[in-house]
Amino acid sequence: MRYFGVIGSPIHHSLSPLIHNFLFSYLGISAHYDKFDIPSPSLLASTLQSLSGANITLPYKEEVFGLCDEVRGFAQEVEAVNTVLCRNQKLCGFNTDGLGFWECIKNLELKTALVLGAGGSARAIAMMLKKQGVDTMIYNRTPSKVDFFLSRGIGVLETLEVKEVDLLVHTTSVGLDGKSLPYQQEKLQSLVSKAKYVFDVIYPSQKGIVGIDQFRDFFLSRPKTAFLGLSSQGMDGLEMLLYQAFFAFEIFCDGQYCFEELKALFYNSLK
Ligand code: NDP
Repeated sequence: MRYFGVIGSPIHHSLSPLIHNFLFSYLGISAHYDKFDIPSPSLLASTLQSLSGANITLPYKEEVFGLCDEVRGFAQEVEAVNTVLCRNQKLCGFNTDGLGFWECIKNLELKTALVLGAGGSARAIAMMLKKQGVDTMIYNRTPSKVDFFLSRGIGVLETLEVKEVDLLVHTTSVGLDGKSLPYQQEKLQSLVSKAKYVFDVIYPSQKGIVGIDQFRDFFLSRPKTAFLGLSSQGMDGLEMLLYQAFFAFEIFCDGQYCFEELKALFYNSLK
């Protein structure tokens, strides 16, 4: 039996165990996936080394980038890791957030984007948008945390100006309670009204979703996030969560199952 898990704090809302355990069991793989609430970064390395692989979430993606013995692909560009493979006590880091995000929006016609927030998810999203040729800017509450973006040629707004953009992406950690907004509501409302498409990385949380049947009900009738409550349209982060998980699962299984296969079998089980 191989052991995997999602590491972060807080972690109680995570749906990753449900997704990965469903796939392991459906595919007959002898493996189990758990949640690890790690209150201090000092416990990260030993927890990672006790597992075959892991996903990393808030607030440790950048910390784990520094802990990895090797970092591959897009994770090198974003300097943040959300997926780790552990072999012979050596940690190899990947980032599947950017790919998961792109899968959600790749069919939209986009020339410009504004990303709100400058944390790990903002890095992956802004870098992926730039890579795909979308003219991308960011805005963050704390101006001193935007150097990463400036050094990669991503524009930074010093104040939250109301601009017309094709895509507005919310990536702050505010809103997990389903009510709070990161900035003044009127300003956000104006921004949302000027955007062609709106995306919130946050997804609504609901206690007690333990099996695929409960997940199906939640998936089909989930409430709007606080940020999407400002808009008549928009996508929340639930499909991005699924897609980044399918890309991570592909890594956990050494490519034995590909993203499209995993997506098809998971979505078929939601019908
Ligand atoms: P980080 O901790 O790396 O970044 C947090 C961001 O939120 C920073 O920009 C921070 O700004 C901002 N922020 C925090 N508190 C406030 C506040 N009170 N007012 C304004 N801004 C604030 O988090 P991540 O980027 O890793 O994750 C952000 C969210 O995205 C989480 O809710 C996470 O669950 C979700 N997520 C969803 C994914 C999905 O697949 N759907 C994937 C990845 C993340 P400052 O620098 O000023 O502190």
